[in-house]
Amino acid sequence: VLVAFFGASHCAWEGRIIAEEVRARLDLPVLTINARSARHGLDLGTRGRLSAFVELVRSRRAGRVLSAAELAVEVPMALAEDGGEAGPPGCCPNSGPKLAIFERLRDSVAEELAFAEQARKQGTKLVGIYCEYTPRELVLAAGALPVCLCGYTPEMVSPAEEDLPANLCPLIKSSYGYIKERACPFFESASAIVAETTCDGKKKMYELIADRHPTFVLELTQKPLEPRAFQHWLGEVRELKHFLEKTLGTRITDAGLREAIRRMNRRRELLLGLYEFTRSDDVYLTGVERLLVNQRIACTALEDELLAAVRAELLRRRAAGELAAPRGAVRVLVTGTPMGIGVEKVVRLVEESGGAVVVQEACSGIKPLVENVAGQGDPLEAVARKYFHLPCPCFTANPGRFELLDRLVGEFRPAAVIDLVWMACHTYNVESALVRRWAQRKGLPFLKVETDYSGSDTAQLRTRIESLMEMARK
Ligand code: SF4
Ligand code: SF4
Repeated sequence: VLVAFFGASHCAWEGRIIAEEVRARLDLPVLTINARSARHGLDLGTRGRLSAFVELVRSRRAGRVLSAAELAVEVPMALAEDGGEAGPPGCCPNSGPKLAIFERLRDSVAEELAFAEQARKQGTKLVGIYCEYTPRELVLAAGALPVCLCGYTPEMVSPAEEDLPANLCPLIKSSYGYIKERACPFFESASAIVAETTCDGKKKMYELIADRHPTFVLELTQKPLEPRAFQHWLGEVRELKHFLEKTLGTRITDAGLREAIRRMNRRRELLLGLYEFTRSDDVYLTGVERLLVNQRIACTALEDELLAAVRAELLRRRAAGELAAPRGAVRVLVTGTPMGIGVEKVVRLVEESGGAVVVQEACSGIKPLVENVAGQGDPLEAVARKYFHLPCPCFTANPGRFELLDRLVGEFRPAAVIDLVWMACHTYNVESALVRRWAQRKGLPFLKVETDYSGSDTAQLRTRIESLMEMARK
């Protein structure tokens, strides 16, 4: 594990050279961490990466499993130089005292990786995915595991900028940085990748990584309101089916697809069910906790177990009257680009400023959950139709987003709206003007936040979010 201090250019550059040498000469995996102030302990993104790294080491060392003590030695000390609290990384999820569920979810990447490695050893293949347009049902029906690939770590942005323009969306840069640095263990062990043409930056980035794994790029229609658009999309989904069959050496049958539809529908219902704990005036689940629930691998026994534990904890809180946000907290709807743990600063700042993020209209929130795949008719067409309805700003026009926003305002009664736009994301950025007009029509205070993965604007963002909270209270 190499640690460089954030902003110290020498460490970063020399660290990269050392990492390359260690990989090339010793064939050892290397994790590079840009350490920030550790006043509040390890941030969640770093903890997750450490845990994943530990699992990678474990999986490489057949016959020798490292002990928790061996694994926990140096990293926390290295990160705690300013005297801050830095507990050991959650490196050994299956040992030690039983953790409370949200504590456990902070490091669930390690459990997911262990699960994936186990499945892989038993012959199950992994398929890496990036976007919510990828129908996970097809991957499941092919007998593989669909795995969301990593892309929410600020530290992966700077290695990416060696190849990619600096003024590109941080989500693309971080995703690419993970691959360039060979730091995403799920990507490393994937048998295939499904990508998509949602935005120019992503579709060109995929060309840079296409030599690593067999890759299928789903071509989205641009004008979903045209009658021929669905036929085009259906053709793409059909081609994806053929690609998976050929690459994974399997057959996707209608019966297998129906079973996968049943599993994914159930998963969406379980996740959607968690919103009952933020819909009422009393809020039992914070926005940050809701993000922690998002797992990388869908429809596994592990995910079922974690979701059941989350639900049990929320029921317990409700029965005990334990609120997650104070009564009278400003109810906030966050819309916009997807986010994940590691880059959840906007949600965190809202909740530190007396607000409660009651719903996120985003791919990392409620958006992919609101429609299930129909149980009748041709299963492939039913799958294609569900994903065709996902309202992303890469479409022109995108009325579905505003229909969903209308519905969420009715259900969740927000007092303010924040539109998150990752810097250089043109589609979300331009559409934000329409979101502002929509919020004005609804009479809701509105804030557009255009930001990147760095923490450099945190103080300024806090002030702007606090002003929004004030405005909403009036
Ligand atoms: S916002 Fe659009 S491009 Fe991004 S994950 Fe969602 S559907 Fe895909
Ligand atoms: S946030 Fe925007 S620019 Fe970034 S990957 Fe998603 S659609 Fe593309």
